[in-house]
Amino acid sequence: MIARRQTVTVNVGGVNIGSAHPIVVQSMTNTDTANAEATAMQVAQLARAGSEVVRVTVNTREAAAAIPEIVRRLADLGLSVPLVGDFHYNGHILLREYPETARLLAKYRINPGNVGAGQHHDANFATMIEVAKEYDKPVRIGVNWGSLDQQVLARLMDENTAAGSPKSGTDVMIDAMVVSALESAQYAEQLGLPHDKILISVKVSSAPELWQVYRQLAAKCDYPLHLGLTEAGMGMKGMVATSVALAPLLTEGIGDTIRVSLTPEPGANRKLEVEVAQQILQSLGLRQFLPQVTSCPGCGRTTSQFFQELAQKIQDYIRDAMPEWKGRYPGVEDMQVAVMGCIVNGPGESKHANIGISLPGTGEDPRAPVYQDGKLLTTLKGPRIAEDFQALLEKYVQDRYGRDQPVAG
Ligand code: SF4
Repeated sequence: MIARRQTVTVNVGGVNIGSAHPIVVQSMTNTDTANAEATAMQVAQLARAGSEVVRVTVNTREAAAAIPEIVRRLADLGLSVPLVGDFHYNGHILLREYPETARLLAKYRINPGNVGAGQHHDANFATMIEVAKEYDKPVRIGVNWGSLDQQVLARLMDENTAAGSPKSGTDVMIDAMVVSALESAQYAEQLGLPHDKILISVKVSSAPELWQVYRQLAAKCDYPLHLGLTEAGMGMKGMVATSVALAPLLTEGIGDTIRVSLTPEPGANRKLEVEVAQQILQSLGLRQFLPQVTSCPGCGRTTSQFFQELAQKIQDYIRDAMPEWKGRYPGVEDMQVAVMGCIVNGPGESKHANIGISLPGTGEDPRAPVYQDGKLLTTLKGPRIAEDFQALLEKYVQDRYGRDQPVAG
């Protein structure tokens, strides 16, 4: 059991974020926000995949003007997922010019490195905080190493040079990001924003630096922390890099909401970032989102593709069924399913699962024993093994998790 770091709770449009609550999965659209139809469709796709909060960029007047229509379209689809506005450079203008947008957004993301320079910096920041207070909205102070507040960095560099044993440039940059986030949060509170209306993120693109930054933040404040590796990259590289970066911090109890920043492959579905975030939390035992399918890697004993296809088919079937199962079968997300390639480890693994099948390996009898709750249920054979197993799985779900059914031991 992982002990979470203690934080205050911040309510983001009805979703509670903080250590007293499950770690929240969030995501961000990549549509042009001004295109309300495309953006609403993508928000819906992300929300249906399990994103509990969705961020959209609000970068122009057209984007700001589109927010009410996006919210309307989502309501028509029966969705009320909290929308977060991502502001850079002109948030102080847009939030004042589009009050309905300011009212409808569930949270504002403010990057202290991108609110204006010199004398404008504090005034622009203060305007956004005033709007947040007016509409009772939380803000995320979101520092990013690519847009670090240069004044803070210069100040810390000077202090470092004057110090007896100067730190490395990287260490000073990390300190500067933490200082920028915490001083901005402190300033927001001085302006009257309540303590429990602030979340913090400080994103970098290297795992060791992310650990350094977040451990510092965790030690210095009790704001909920939004965790993510920025610019993680594409595909497999992005997924591995994010998992490696987030897992140690999550294991230490650091992180109250996560986002996986994958660059989508051309034409790929945006919801992959939600699925990866869920899988990270599920793999660490921090949350359960959908039944886990345990499958062996296969080896020389499984010469046909049948085993791989069955494992894939069952995984897809469960993922597709989950939106409906979630409402009808409480607790089904805890179910364990095993799809194994042969009898070497198959029956053993199947007995540990709620329901499991081991396919016949090369040279074995063409029969597939199915175990349910640790006992041999039946042995499937013939060309319809996949369909028959799927039917047994569906029946198990109904019997075990159906509301009107007695709960099996
Ligand atoms: S369970 Fe069988 S098929 Fe799967 S990896 Fe082990 S020996 Fe190979």
